[in-house]
Amino acid sequence: MSDNLSNHFSQKLLDFDRNHIWHPYTSLINPLPTYPIVCAEGVRLIMDNGKQLIDGMSSWWTAIHGYNVPELNQVANEQLQKMSHVMFGGITHKPAILLCQKLVEITPKGLEKVFLADSGSVSVEVALKMAIQFQHSLGQPQKNKFMTIRRGYHGDTTGAMSVCDPEGGMHHLFRDFLPKHFFIEKPQKRFGETYEEEELFFLEEFFRLHSHQCAGFILEPIVQGAGGMWFYSSQFLKKIKSLCEVHNMLLIADEIATGFGRTGKLFACEHAGISPDILCLGKALTGGYMTLAATICTQRVAETICQGEAGVFMHGPTFMANPLACAIASKSIELLLKSDWQSKILTIEKELKQGLNEAKTLENVKDVRVLGAIGVIELHQPVNVAHAQKFFVEKGVWIRPFRNLIYIMPPYIISQKDLRLLTSTMVDYCQKINTLVN
Ligand SMILES: *Cc1c(COP(=O)(O)O)cnc(C)c1O
Repeated sequence: MSDNLSNHFSQKLLDFDRNHIWHPYTSLINPLPTYPIVCAEGVRLIMDNGKQLIDGMSSWWTAIHGYNVPELNQVANEQLQKMSHVMFGGITHKPAILLCQKLVEITPKGLEKVFLADSGSVSVEVALKMAIQFQHSLGQPQKNKFMTIRRGYHGDTTGAMSVCDPEGGMHHLFRDFLPKHFFIEKPQKRFGETYEEEELFFLEEFFRLHSHQCAGFILEPIVQGAGGMWFYSSQFLKKIKSLCEVHNMLLIADEIATGFGRTGKLFACEHAGISPDILCLGKALTGGYMTLAATICTQRVAETICQGEAGVFMHGPTFMANPLACAIASKSIELLLKSDWQSKILTIEKELKQGLNEAKTLENVKDVRVLGAIGVIELHQPVNVAHAQKFFVEKGVWIRPFRNLIYIMPPYIISQKDLRLLTSTMVDYCQKINTLVN
């Protein structure tokens, strides 16, 4: 594919990386290994030594069409020739308009007003601020807290962090800095399981106790991602939606990970047949090409905000509606919709179920679960990430576990053969460490 020698990373470069550059959630004193990647193509990441890795992570849920996609490359090049960026204050452009038209069209009913932000975390901040301004405009400034679910993840900025799982989100480190919110236990019932009506009474009690202080409920619909990869009953989501209505709170659905088909529906809210008041999108929005996110709200939310004291919504990032990112996002959505994505996800789901099933019999495996194009093995013990990644790279796959979870969410274009290598390598690894402890 490429000239290996010119791609080679000298030790000096790698040392600089180790000594000067933060990687996500990684020590700079005792860093985990990093693997040098020079390019990517289809579902393969190519290392400096020419070794190819089948990508199980879609670069953290983003690269749904794989890498180096000719249609996305072309639209990026065309947009670059026109303009890469221009400010959005007092200016508009077609890439933004065409993208927002698509987003209004494809997202759940009632979501009509689009705020384009530059990353998922920022879109969550925007959603939280929208809910606060909404309640303020209604003369209810005391409704300034949020409800959320334990084991959730909503991003790393301050507001987003304050609604992440209190343990996984390291709340204690930031205790005096973060605003305090109300957390409810994660849903016990799995996706597909049903609750008896009285089993959900505790939610009513939770709302009765705290709703007078709360602007909204923020959650990841159906799939809790980085907080624990848990797939929960759609009934739980329905119940929260109806309680938000009763208690004059806004439902914020964070679909940054689940959006664009990953769970088998275009948006995970569709599993429960509900529309949130505010929706956050990110990650796969640009097909993994650039950073872009969107916060979409209803007419009622937008109107109420703009009738309030400020008269406007108080947020405006420098790179708002970046034309290059918007143009690519439009094309990525077009590619997704014209592909047979539903049957692709179904096929991947079937393969994941088959491929990971064997892990269920292992003593060190606590649970195996699959939903859409997401496959998870939960172990009893935390995974040694450096050890696991070395094993995976040697086998030619790219999988990055966290805590006690080994999971994949591959690009939708993955072939059966490549997917089988991913799942069998996951099972092999669990087998290997199972025999190590026994
Ligand atoms: C990744 C993620 C975020 C944060 O997005 P960034 O682009 O990393 O800021 C927020 N919510 C969910 C559900 C996510 O998966």
